[in-house]
Amino acid sequence: MLAKMTWPEVEERLKESDIAIVPVGSTEQHGPALPLDNDHFAATQFAKMVAEKLWDNVKVVVTPPIAFGYSPHHMGFKGTITLRESTLADVIVDICTSLAIHGFKKIVLINGHGGNATAIGNALHLLHEKIDAQVFNIDWWVVASDKILEVATRPVYHACDMETSVSMYLGQRVQEDKLVDEPGKSPVPGFVEPDLFAPPPKVSMMYTMKDITDSGVVGYATKATKEKGKQIAEVALNRTVKFIMELAKS
Ligand SMILES: [Zn+2]
Repeated sequence: MLAKMTWPEVEERLKESDIAIVPVGSTEQHGPALPLDNDHFAATQFAKMVAEKLWDNVKVVVTPPIAFGYSPHHMGFKGTITLRESTLADVIVDICTSLAIHGFKKIVLINGHGGNATAIGNALHLLHEKIDAQVFNIDWWVVASDKILEVATRPVYHACDMETSVSMYLGQRVQEDKLVDEPGKSPVPGFVEPDLFAPPPKVSMMYTMKDITDSGVVGYATKATKEKGKQIAEVALNRTVKFIMELAKS
């Protein structure tokens, strides 16, 4: 963890590896059973576990997480704290620029919140023009999407079977007596579905979480198990490790 290192230790580490991992998350409602930190907790746990698995081969550093993300659609639920999208993009640009100045040439964001996608995309565009380093983004649920489809109850959306299972495996505080199932209301059934894996035709529109769920959950959280979480997380972890091993060779 970079934050627990001294500057001479970072200088030494850079002689071994120029790869840094930046966890990106959010502080937003996750229903009655999961805490507000869920997305930055998960991103940080993933980052630490990836770094541990890589340790014998590649010694990456993990920066402190970006604990706030882009979550205006969750603001109807108490405790959610959102950045403006441009602020989040700026924070990512500034962190990556700092790392690049020190000599980190390969920067991997591990993202824990789907709502951050546009800000991350914008930041990656800006950084491509600005810094002498490659910047990548990994959404942990995207690299393991085939495993998620295999084991998780649909809809897969928010504080659902998938997310709760993975949180259980990662050691999150999960209040199991408060897990609820709420499939979520579609604003336009058949076209606008709260499900990451909804089949086509898909149409986009803006809505808030309050419009589609009373509890804040969209999915079947009571179906969650630590074992399912392990299966999903291990696929995501192993594929991320494989990617960074390739990156280290390039
Ligand atoms: Zn989440």
